[in-house]
Amino acid sequence: MTGEPQADCLFCKIVAKEVPATVVRESETTLAFRDINPQAPTHVLVIPKVHHPDAASLAAAEPAIAADVLREAGEVAVQEGLDSYRTVFNTGSGAGQTVFHAHAHVLGGRGLQWPPG
Ligand code: 5GP
Ligand code: ZN
Repeated sequence: MTGEPQADCLFCKIVAKEVPATVVRESETTLAFRDINPQAPTHVLVIPKVHHPDAASLAAAEPAIAADVLREAGEVAVQEGLDSYRTVFNTGSGAGQTVFHAHAHVLGGRGLQWPPG
């Protein structure tokens, strides 16, 4: 059921501390940790602790927690000393989503091209 921990979900396992991660921030509803394969000098993932498959599903089911993810993404940027950064939600495999537990990528620390690839 959506919202409940999923046994086969990597990010649910990180929330449960069954898989280690380099955590940079934690709130009651969110966790922020460094991406294992960083695409920029700062590359942090911000996830809701509850399981939803993507950002839109999260926002539809639990809008307050979606707002928590956005706020925490901004707090990560402040904590990492970023004055410019990009927040990305890949949705669907065609857009590069590989983990189907909602997450924001916070990318910064280098020039970021627009439009992205
Ligand atoms: P997506 O491709 O779904 O938008 O983002 C998933 C992200 O999770 C990728 O950037 C990938 O590098 C990261 N990732 C995959 N496995 C792990 C892991 O075990 N630990 C951490 N910290 N990040 C991971
Ligand atoms: Zn999950």
